[in-house]
Amino acid sequence: MEISNLKPLFPDISQDNAPVIIAGPCSAESKEQVIQTADELKQLGVKIFRAGVWKPRTKPGGFEGMGSIALQWLSEVKRSTGMLVATEIASPQHLNEAMEANIDAIWIGARTSANPFAVQEIADAFASMTEEERDSIAVMVKNPVNADLELWIGAMERLYAAGVRRLGAIHRGFSSYGNHIYRNQPEWRIPIEFKRRLPEIPLICDPSHIGGRRDFIAPLSIQALRMNFDGLIIESHCNPDCALSDSAQQITPQELGEILKTINRRGDALSGEILSDLRRQIDEIDDRLIDILSQRMAVAREIGRLKRENDMPVVQPERYNSLIKKRVETAENMNLNPDFMRRILAEIHEESVRQQFDI
Ligand code: PEP
Ligand code: MN
Repeated sequence: MEISNLKPLFPDISQDNAPVIIAGPCSAESKEQVIQTADELKQLGVKIFRAGVWKPRTKPGGFEGMGSIALQWLSEVKRSTGMLVATEIASPQHLNEAMEANIDAIWIGARTSANPFAVQEIADAFASMTEEERDSIAVMVKNPVNADLELWIGAMERLYAAGVRRLGAIHRGFSSYGNHIYRNQPEWRIPIEFKRRLPEIPLICDPSHIGGRRDFIAPLSIQALRMNFDGLIIESHCNPDCALSDSAQQITPQELGEILKTINRRGDALSGEILSDLRRQIDEIDDRLIDILSQRMAVAREIGRLKRENDMPVVQPERYNSLIKKRVETAENMNLNPDFMRRILAEIHEESVRQQFDI
């Protein structure tokens, strides 16, 4: 299935090609924690706030999120800060509640995207809405927990077929058995192939769930942006040590601020590097141009000598006209402006004639 003609994922946010930054706690734990974290993130210029309301836990008894009541805290963040708010949904029921609370964006989590039945139920819920309702919310799909590219793409296709057009993807790594330095293996070739197959879908990296550790957030974020990801979703909590879920990977808004500064500086440094590389190329091309002009004038002088020895006229108009015509055609085929080419050739010809007279 071809996925094309998508609508902007976040049309209200002017990006100027800057990466989308989504940040907020793993879970909404209390109104105070949500509001305080959001206020601190707002200060950093973060425009999209995330918080899990319903949490899929590996075993019963873990913190399963505060549920529906937390949607009101997100609405409050939206009202008081003007940020867009995002949360995870896993069922049509969650989706309805999120839409009723005017949540701006939802994502389908890694455990849910691994289950085609669950994804199809959510897709069916979208299919039963009006186009306007569907377009009122951004929909992101995390990769399934297992490293199955087709399953991830299949989830995108189910939503697209249901009419969802504000569609994005989140790379959060893949789980694997045993001890590894990362909590979820990035397997970068999978998101790269995802982007090759579905180039229109914005791809956001989740370094928090890939790394599983605070000190991995910065290097993974930089790596993702170098690989041309369209944005980052980063877990940030006003008091990470006391977080009820994913405590080890959450960073304070202040720490996030430092990372965002590094990312921006790197962007500047990177574009500076590219610019000086392009300037080096221009210098080299100009040197070659000068060398070629000098060779051309040497040949012109040689012709001048020959013409003088044989008493031939220096300027031969038919030759000049056919030469200009041919050169302009060649130049046009190489995307050069014909008038520009005529001016350059006239200048070169004039100088050639002058050199021939000098002999
Ligand atoms: C989350 O974003 O907090 C979450 C549960 O993520 P994932 O679905 O990637 O495990
Ligand atoms: Mn989490």
